Amino acid sequence: MQEQLKELVLQAQTDISACNNANDLMNVKAQYLGKKSLLNGLFAKMRDLHPEDRPAFGNLINESRSKIEALLEARNKEVKESAWNKSSNLSNSDLSMPGVFSSRGGFHPLSIVQREIDEVFISMGFEIAEGPDIDDDFHNFDALNTPADHPSRNLADTFYLNGGGLLRTQTSTVQVRTMEAFKPPIRIISAGRCYRNDKPDPSHSPVFHQVEALVVDEGISLADMTDTLSQFASILFGKQVASRIRPHFFPFTEPSAEMDISCVSCGGSGCRICKYSGWLEMGGAGMVDPNVFDMLGIDSEVYTGFAFGLGIERIAMLKYNIPDMRILFENDLRMLRQFKGELR
Ligand SMILES: [Zn+2]
Repeated sequence: MQEQLKELVLQAQTDISACNNANDLMNVKAQYLGKKSLLNGLFAKMRDLHPEDRPAFGNLINESRSKIEALLEARNKEVKESAWNKSSNLSNSDLSMPGVFSSRGGFHPLSIVQREIDEVFISMGFEIAEGPDIDDDFHNFDALNTPADHPSRNLADTFYLNGGGLLRTQTSTVQVRTMEAFKPPIRIISAGRCYRNDKPDPSHSPVFHQVEALVVDEGISLADMTDTLSQFASILFGKQVASRIRPHFFPFTEPSAEMDISCVSCGGSGCRICKYSGWLEMGGAGMVDPNVFDMLGIDSEVYTGFAFGLGIERIAMLKYNIPDMRILFENDLRMLRQFKGELR
């Protein structure tokens, strides 16, 4: 009997070694350990033995059973490993080779600047407002007190769309929409794309980005505007940067002004970038014209406000010393990669 069992285990070992997949192993398992297996048949024979001999016989069968189970398990592990190696081809791989480098993305310099501007104004208590790129004459011109014969309405300057509407020429459209929807106090900034029929050159592009601020409340004065502008300039460009305003004209503000900052390159002594004036133009500003308030149902006897608009490209070019606006739109990877560290 002992011999018979030994032989059975040896035969099982040979059959198990010959298995190359999980299915074959299942069949061999059924053959040696299943209900109709030889081992199970031997168990049935225990009844014919003398009760004293039964435990020793039972132990022998169990030992053989355990051996076969261990062989099955070991082979199963081998089969699994070899299948995994085949699928991943790891057996043919050189694990000491360097890995495939995948590059981390970064923000475009215009996005970095826009986020910085947002942060500065949010810290001053402003809210962010948004509006559509496609707008209409009312929001882009009429509500901003722009006369019907104003040159900016000209087809040569504005992209009008077939079937009505236009591509906004300024983000002031968002100011109009905010004043239509909300009562003062209002304190918003809105940044976004604007469109003008300009030929691309070092300082112009048919698509560009503006950020505009609007504050409307009781008792807002020109001093609030100049103070906000100078704080903004010093946070964005550094405390050493001075700012000033010069009289100008815009249809929607009265009085209107242009804002300058002292040259970030030469500090005001004069250089090529500031055309030797010591000052850099930043954008337009002014007190909201009472006509604009009246048109939008805000009581101009009670409320006053200021607004200003800045070009995001202009700020990015100054901050990063970019000489030509077109570089910002060409998206040459060699340029963009330089900004990867500036993730915000
Ligand atoms: Zn300069």
